[in-house]
Amino acid sequence: MTITITIANEKGGVGKTTTAVNLAAGLALRLADDGRDARRVLLVDMDPQVHALLAVGYDRHEEAAPVSLANLLTETPPPSIQRLIRRSQYHPNLFYIPSDRAAMIRAARELPTLMANETRLQKVLAPILEEYAYIIIDTPPNTGDLLINALVAADHVIIPVETSYLGVSGLIELERTIEQVQTHFKPGLDILGYLPTLCEEHRSEAREILLEMQARYKKQLLPSIHKTSDLAYAHSSHMDVFTYRPPRARSNEQIASSSRATREYAALVEIILKKTGAKTRARQGK
Ligand code: ADP
Ligand code: MG
Repeated sequence: MTITITIANEKGGVGKTTTAVNLAAGLALRLADDGRDARRVLLVDMDPQVHALLAVGYDRHEEAAPVSLANLLTETPPPSIQRLIRRSQYHPNLFYIPSDRAAMIRAARELPTLMANETRLQKVLAPILEEYAYIIIDTPPNTGDLLINALVAADHVIIPVETSYLGVSGLIELERTIEQVQTHFKPGLDILGYLPTLCEEHRSEAREILLEMQARYKKQLLPSIHKTSDLAYAHSSHMDVFTYRPPRARSNEQIASSSRATREYAALVEIILKKTGAKTRARQGK
């Protein structure tokens, strides 16, 4: 069974793309140990900025695809998704759908005029569901049909929250949007967790906010991702952090790495595997 997770927050610069990319890469790495074909991960970038795809080796200038994600969202009937999907550069079991900035901006404008404008991503993903263990969807920093499509297609949402006073306020609109999607399309859509990002624990402000988040989100609070240069450099080097700072060793549940960023995203991967109930061969003791 495929588990689809959307990374959402209507604010920009809170670590959505960083989380989408590193969660997808980390899951791919972890599931590759299983050695089964079905242990594939698909990264879908619903943000017209297409920054997430940079980290899987997609060069939109070199490879400008005449058919891309925007065509899947706007054409009736949509082109074949199977033929569009490409393998990422760094992980053999991580795949992505090519996108195009201008075409996605046009698609965002066109979607409200189209029939079934909220369910189009869900429909185009349906035929490939059995081929992927996880589908991770990155989203743009605004409410609109691209975000709605990403939520309707998802089973779970992860909300990265910048660890600052402005971070915790301003989630009301997103929570309302999720409620609307639950009411009209997906009663089972759930918030898998709130992920504190860009955390600077040495600052007292960050510690206070973490306490506030603990009180507010309780079991839904995920362990913090700290602000580290590795994540910034991995991003500017167009890599996920597991490729940029590879782990020295791994056991099933833990990764040995001198990079805090690698360890923290590896820990997030384990929690997501547990929370979504994915059974890996290793855990079944085979
Ligand atoms: P969003 O997708 O929400 O707009 P990004 O993931 O693109 O946010 O992050 C915004 C910027 O902050 C990027 O330049 C990214 O490299 C950087 N960044 C994100 N998370 C971290 C982190 N934990 N430590 C350092 N830099 C980070
Ligand atoms: Mg982004």
